[in-house]
Amino acid sequence: MSERTLSDINGAGKRVIQEVKDVQLYIDGRFVDAENQGTFENYNPFTNEKINEVAAGDHQDIHKAVQAARRAFQGEWGRMKLKERLSYIYKIADLIDEHIEEIAPLESYDTGLPISQTKKMVSRAAQNFRFYAEMVNSRLVGDAYQVDDEFLNYTIHKPVGIAGLITPWNAPFMLETWKIAPALATGNTVILKPAEWSPLTANRLAEIIDKAGLPNGVFNVVHGYGETAGAALVAHEDVELISFTGETKTGSEIMKNGADSLKQFSMELGGKSPLIVFPDADMERAIDACTWGIFSFNGERCTANSRLYIHEDAAEEFIAALKDRVKNITVGDPLKEETQVGPLIHPKHYQSVKDYLTLAEEEGCQVISGTVPEEYSRGNYIAPTLLLNAETSMRVVQEEIFGPVIAVMTFKDEKEVIEYANNVRYGLAGYVWTKDLQRGHRVAQAVNAGMMWINSQNVRDLRTPFGGSKHSGIGREGGHYAFEFYTEVQIIHVALGDHPIPQFGKY
Ligand code: NAD
Repeated sequence: MSERTLSDINGAGKRVIQEVKDVQLYIDGRFVDAENQGTFENYNPFTNEKINEVAAGDHQDIHKAVQAARRAFQGEWGRMKLKERLSYIYKIADLIDEHIEEIAPLESYDTGLPISQTKKMVSRAAQNFRFYAEMVNSRLVGDAYQVDDEFLNYTIHKPVGIAGLITPWNAPFMLETWKIAPALATGNTVILKPAEWSPLTANRLAEIIDKAGLPNGVFNVVHGYGETAGAALVAHEDVELISFTGETKTGSEIMKNGADSLKQFSMELGGKSPLIVFPDADMERAIDACTWGIFSFNGERCTANSRLYIHEDAAEEFIAALKDRVKNITVGDPLKEETQVGPLIHPKHYQSVKDYLTLAEEEGCQVISGTVPEEYSRGNYIAPTLLLNAETSMRVVQEEIFGPVIAVMTFKDEKEVIEYANNVRYGLAGYVWTKDLQRGHRVAQAVNAGMMWINSQNVRDLRTPFGGSKHSGIGREGGHYAFEFYTEVQIIHVALGDHPIPQFGKY
């Protein structure tokens, strides 16, 4: 561990990093080793030094966790009064808020995401819990229909059962809570399988939830590899639903493996989102949004605007400004407040992004990159990069690179740019910049993506849906969409009087 880094962070964060221990599984209210005693090593991405060992759970641990989750669902948690259940959810939110100064550095240490950005994400995680506690309080009884003064029909929303949550390594803490909060608030029990490259904050969350005092078995964390722990969770007969965020090909694999047990799935998958700039746009704001949208979170962001379509009349000015931005972005230590872009999560991912940069040159792009200071040569650093002269048909434009790399293309008119925007298999997000609001709405509606922003960047109110179309996902998270996914709707038909009951022979 580098002392240079530790000296730069605040007291709580420094202590929590220095005190990082080996990570165990959290099953049935206890921190335990994997049944097979297996572990894997976890590394920090900015020096590639080992942080700790992490218990590598497999099907045996998943089975133990499922049994504990079932006991809790049928026992204390399932019978608990709503008010008491929600008091636990608020308590988790309060505890997250109390520990922001510790969780954010831990997240940056484990993932390489800049600390100024992880701090904001952690506070958003606490909001997720409060938001769903409030929603559940007001939505458990759904619609009511009175029929001809004779019948009252109404719907209620009940928890589904055991929720299997499988999460990726980019923004892990936030993405985990995004699923855990609605799953627990609606009364399910949970088994979380966090990504193997970012286990630290999932473990911290287990400690927080343990401190909140939830009954044993309500919340469980099984660390481990996707092919073992993840696959066992998906295949387990007694898990009712799987909420997955990760790569498109993994999502497809999971749906196949879960088919036999007829699970419900929510799939949040990859993206290759376009940012479209018309010549009448507020250029300064569009350049800011473009820079932030692709280079924040190290470009490891599902909604990153990794394809830029700039109108040819404005291209020269826009590209010159982007080149300037790229050269001036501060690449460095993710634990330093001034760092804007940190290292990529893992050497394997670094190599994959590097390979795409080589491919970009082979496909005919001009590759323009900022610089990585010499002192960070041990880390998985990729400088912010522009791929100029890109074309929609190229692999570097079609495939998700998931790093600080943007393909830059020009267009002539609205019709052409809509075609370009839609000509990839992904459909997660998109951005349109124009002062002509009629055109803004028209283009936003014509792009086949789950989420579009006009003259804006990736801001999202918690009430709104999040998710993608095409190969970017199935279903939506967020708002009442997540509430509905984690609940089973039941209709109750009540007779208000003695209506005629059909009898054989008189019917
Ligand atoms: P990944 O698919 O490699 O892994 C995600 C999780 O799935 C990990 O926990 C992994 O262990 C597990 N897993 C892998 N194989 C499995 C299997 N066979 N069965 C069960 N579980 C398995 O994804 P990643 O590299 O961790 O994350 C990056 C990807 O996530 C990118 O494609 C990104 O766009 C996507 N993402 C999407 C969203 C969204 O909301 N749409 C948000 C964040 C990230």
